[in-house]
Amino acid sequence: MTWRFALMIEPAASDDTREDFGATFQRVDPSAPALSVGELSTQRGDGIFESIGVVGGHAQEVQAHLDRLVHSARLCDLPEPNLAQWRAAIEVAAASCEPGESVIKLILSRGVEHGPAPTAWVTAAHAADFRAVRERGIRIVTLDRGLDSGAAARAPWLLLGAKTLSYAVNMAAIREAKRRGADDAIFVSSDGIVFEAPTASVILRIGDRFVTPEPSGSILQGTTQVSLFEFLEGRGFETAYEAVPAASLATADAAWLVSSVRLAAPITAIDGAPVAHDAELTGEINAYLLSPRD
Ligand code: PLP
Repeated sequence: MTWRFALMIEPAASDDTREDFGATFQRVDPSAPALSVGELSTQRGDGIFESIGVVGGHAQEVQAHLDRLVHSARLCDLPEPNLAQWRAAIEVAAASCEPGESVIKLILSRGVEHGPAPTAWVTAAHAADFRAVRERGIRIVTLDRGLDSGAAARAPWLLLGAKTLSYAVNMAAIREAKRRGADDAIFVSSDGIVFEAPTASVILRIGDRFVTPEPSGSILQGTTQVSLFEFLEGRGFETAYEAVPAASLATADAAWLVSSVRLAAPITAIDGAPVAHDAELTGEINAYLLSPRD
């Protein structure tokens, strides 16, 4: 059985400047119950989370994940997270990680109904072994998101730009992809614009340009995508945020789904049709993503 680690956190106010937050964490047995039966907001998915990749005990891109946690908290009207406290909890979790790849999850839910404060906890566990997927690639299907590209602006309460605990739709999309004989999905707006994958960002290579859907509020801005664009720019490539028509997926020179734990998975087929992929560049990209990144 794989190891696991869990900390329950008593969230501190964002202006709490104490030097040592250790007393606000309680290490708990990850296989034992820890949440109150009254933890209604978690049952409703009314909370936010982050999944941070850990390589050899180094938690990757912590600041970018914390910035997104703050962004998600604002969109969901949750109290402003105390970043020094979360950073301290991540350090404790990362120090518990075994060699190899792991994942640290940060969870902040609205808490017990009528309760005084949000509920917060951090877990760490081994990551699944994605080495074969990174090399062999994934077949994807495009799925209608059922929303047009203007939906996020018209209906901000859909929280499309927040990393909320409500992933039932995302998981259903992956099951639908598998029913259709693929490995993963890409959500497309009802007016034909590429959004994102259920748990990853989409990046296309068109000639020497790397393009990703603009972070317009309809999608989550991926920390991996941002980090990868920095790497590609350093290699002299042009990068761009654009409205990406769904038709571009089939004609791109290469395409990837990128995310914090699986890293870059090259796309090998779209809606049943094989597409080009660049094994050498994918290898370089994943070597970069596996190197320590802050
Ligand atoms: N988009 C969605 C919906 C996601 O769930 C994720 C990650 O889980 C991403 C994009 C990629 O984000 P990151 O690169 O920060 O893992």
